[in-house]
Amino acid sequence: MAISIMLDAGHGGEDPGAVYQNRSEKDDNLALVKELGQILSNNGIDVQYTRTTDIYQTPFEKAQLANNAGVDYFISIHRNSAPTPNQYHGVETLLYDKSGIKLEMAENINNRLSEVGFENLGVKARPGLVVLRRTNMPALLVEVGFLNSDVDNEIFDKNQRQIAQAIADGILETLQMQPADVNSDAAPLPQLQDEMDPGSPLYRVQVGLFRKRSNADQLLYELLERDYPAFMLAEDGYFKVQVGAFRQLGNAIAMERRLRRAGYATLITT
Ligand SMILES: [Zn+2]
Repeated sequence: MAISIMLDAGHGGEDPGAVYQNRSEKDDNLALVKELGQILSNNGIDVQYTRTTDIYQTPFEKAQLANNAGVDYFISIHRNSAPTPNQYHGVETLLYDKSGIKLEMAENINNRLSEVGFENLGVKARPGLVVLRRTNMPALLVEVGFLNSDVDNEIFDKNQRQIAQAIADGILETLQMQPADVNSDAAPLPQLQDEMDPGSPLYRVQVGLFRKRSNADQLLYELLERDYPAFMLAEDGYFKVQVGAFRQLGNAIAMERRLRRAGYATLITT
């Protein structure tokens, strides 16, 4: 069976990512992902995408897309941003932790990108990032230079095809050296088995109800960072942030207590 990879063009829609002069990171990410996807497809990889158009997705949704598709790898393409223009330049790749095949793949990608002309800033562990933490397969986030670096933008604009090829080469050379079981080093993912069961009523603990999606997102990420099995529902014109779901009311109550001790206002819903 072909190896499957979900490519994620970082940000999108109302979330532009980094912005510098007339550039938005979301556009650079998407253009590069399309090139990369084409090259990987040509090399026999089953390529899937979180987005191929300019739409907004939360990082949690992006991770869920990969989990639901059951792909072997998740690769998110971004461009970096420094506090002030031209402060930094170079590429780096972010991982949940620096171990396993994803570390090899990250190092190979960085090395290939440095051959195109980028400085290699190395591999970094960023366990707090939702797309790295919530994906249950090896996941990489490649920062393809700084969006507010003129040096990096010049490389990016002049060599887009070579950059896509470099990332593809880093991926492919890693896969060629690997045995079949590639999922052994995935980040641990708390599963919501209960939610999948269609039979019994499910209890959820609601922690927030918002008109504005960005406010709901903020609470959602905060809860996920603290390892609550949180998710968001769009319902009746509201964005509801909930934790669960639980088949047994007692478990929902226990979760509610834990959330209240942590300072959240809650109610139990089915
Ligand atoms: Zn980004």
